[in-house]
Amino acid sequence: MKKVFGLKGRVQHYAWGGQTYIPKLLGTSSDHRPYAEYWLGAHVNAPALVLTEEGEIPLDAFLKTNAKVYLGETTFNRFGKLPFLFKVLDVHQMLSIQVHPSKIEAEKGFKRENELGIPLTALNRNYKDDNHKPEIMVALGEFWLLHGFLPKEDLFEVLHKNPEFTALTAIFLKDGYKGLYRYVMELPLVESDKILRPLVNKLLPLYAENKLSKSSPDYWAAKAVAEADQADHLDRGIFSIYFFNLLKVNKGEAVFQDAGVPHAYLEGQNIELMANSDNVLRGGLTPKHIDVPELLKHIVFEETKPEILKGSLEGNGIERTYKSPAPDFELSEINLYQNKPFKGKSNSVEIYILMEGEIVVREQETSLVLKKGESFLILAGAEYQISTSSHAVLYKATTP
Ligand SMILES: [Zn+2]
Repeated sequence: MKKVFGLKGRVQHYAWGGQTYIPKLLGTSSDHRPYAEYWLGAHVNAPALVLTEEGEIPLDAFLKTNAKVYLGETTFNRFGKLPFLFKVLDVHQMLSIQVHPSKIEAEKGFKRENELGIPLTALNRNYKDDNHKPEIMVALGEFWLLHGFLPKEDLFEVLHKNPEFTALTAIFLKDGYKGLYRYVMELPLVESDKILRPLVNKLLPLYAENKLSKSSPDYWAAKAVAEADQADHLDRGIFSIYFFNLLKVNKGEAVFQDAGVPHAYLEGQNIELMANSDNVLRGGLTPKHIDVPELLKHIVFEETKPEILKGSLEGNGIERTYKSPAPDFELSEINLYQNKPFKGKSNSVEIYILMEGEIVVREQETSLVLKKGESFLILAGAEYQISTSSHAVLYKATTP
């Protein structure tokens, strides 16, 4: 049985995407559309295509034909289908502030909205499926994001330092993270404008003159306003920019976001691996559906001390694995040099993307030649070898 196949992902043209990174990676010409995400998964909305002798077959349909064998017994018994979604992201404009539900909450929410008869495609639908959505990302260059609430002392300092926020100090002191966040998120827009407008008016000229630094929330608050569509009111998501940890992640470093940790991607390119779900509760900086009570229900209101993961090198000295508590996925980076092939053995299904260089993948009689931007699928039970004549960088998604 053939166990190695070429794989073609699917581009998502969300408005926040950049125009050049993904087309360049894939070797296609840029057509002035935003190329936000490149999906390598079996999600029904955009399944990757498996390149077989019988033509291109959507990955979800392909896996179904022999799921237990293709996924491997452990993965099949636990999940019944491909449990993860693998992506390349190019964030040009910041994404919405969001949080993902736990598995139990997703099951409850999905059932409730089904019972209420809210169509899956409705704009006010929160739960698209019954799954949780932990995610891990590895930066492909300098990457900026918001990740969890600031530690207490830091948040007090932010409230103290910005005169617009000083009145909020008493609320934080008395009611903690939840009280503070609930207060600003439930403020009538005219009231939140009274706090944010003087701040924004002060920042916009500095932003226009390039005088703000990316390591300050001032830069991102100004950017959010400068890039937003003209609106009567300021987006309350600006508070989150000041209340959350602002992180800069360097190439090869990773961040894991578990259920309940509020976050937002701000700028840069990354590889992202997540549980196969589309459940997102939003808290601003987006024209999409925002449900504040539902959002507040799922945020874990505590400080986050950010952990930037460097990954750990496997015994072969080639593969760097980024461990996380999620049972649904495991991400690793493979750095390949001439004369030192990578020998793999798949217990579960694996998906690879080649980010740099050219490689040959061999498994029994199958041999696949790939160049930058191309992807492939390895079914469970394969013993294979990947080699290069120069230098190559790959990312692999599988189950732990
Ligand atoms: Zn997310």
